[in-house]
Amino acid sequence: MYKFSINVLITIFLILGLMGCNNNKSQKDSTSQEITSEKGKTPKRDNKNQQNNLQNKNTKKILGNTPAKKITKKNKTNSSKIKLTPYPESIAVVVNKRYYMPANYVPKDLVYPNVPFLFKEKVEKRKMRSEAARALEKMFAAAKKDGIYLKGVSAYRSYKTQQALFNRYVKRDGYEKARTYSAVPGSSEHQTGLAIDVSGSSGKCAAASCFANTKEAAWLKKNSQKYGFIIRYPKGKESITGYKYEPWHLRYVGNISSNIQNRGITLEEYLRISGL
Ligand SMILES: [Zn+2]
Repeated sequence: MYKFSINVLITIFLILGLMGCNNNKSQKDSTSQEITSEKGKTPKRDNKNQQNNLQNKNTKKILGNTPAKKITKKNKTNSSKIKLTPYPESIAVVVNKRYYMPANYVPKDLVYPNVPFLFKEKVEKRKMRSEAARALEKMFAAAKKDGIYLKGVSAYRSYKTQQALFNRYVKRDGYEKARTYSAVPGSSEHQTGLAIDVSGSSGKCAAASCFANTKEAAWLKKNSQKYGFIIRYPKGKESITGYKYEPWHLRYVGNISSNIQNRGITLEEYLRISGL
């Protein structure tokens, strides 16, 4: 059943990704070109099939959501490319600079994972969706056995929190500058409840580029996929994900993690969609 839902989801993303490319014919889409040339053939578009997939009652039942149709953001850079991500509740949901989370989306199953964080308070950023939280506990325990002591830095962040933060930056630096260092509300993967920034127990280099040289980063890169996580923004994939290397930002994707991480690809490449 779960496997089936993932397959259906991948099909939908594939189709939506292709639609995205075709809606922006004038703009070069290096991601899809790269994927197309990798496979050596252009995937077929099949409108009838696409409709059938999106209207499939079973799909809606499994994913438990209605695909969002449009985004209300206007007068923003790249607004023509921005879409709401379909199936925000899915474990394999994609959120990036092109696919946004709905403003009113709050995961229904947020819990406090039983792992240490850099802070003691039971606050929003300590929460994750239950499946991801359980996997995180397993991963931290396995790391500990290998002598690697991990701590959480920041996990769930609501749209409202991101909006308040972003608005403060906009007031200070203006919209264009703010968006270079802070996620526009809706575009942060932390809103899914499936992402977490992780550090070593000292908190040194937490969410900073020097984390890349730590033993904790090396352990996560080697082992995180065994627990359903991926390093979401790998080195050298900025043109696809839209983000520089973030060895601390882990994303729970469930049982597709090994397929992604072992092949050295991104979630965008796996789903054959664009991040930019
Ligand atoms: Zn992060």
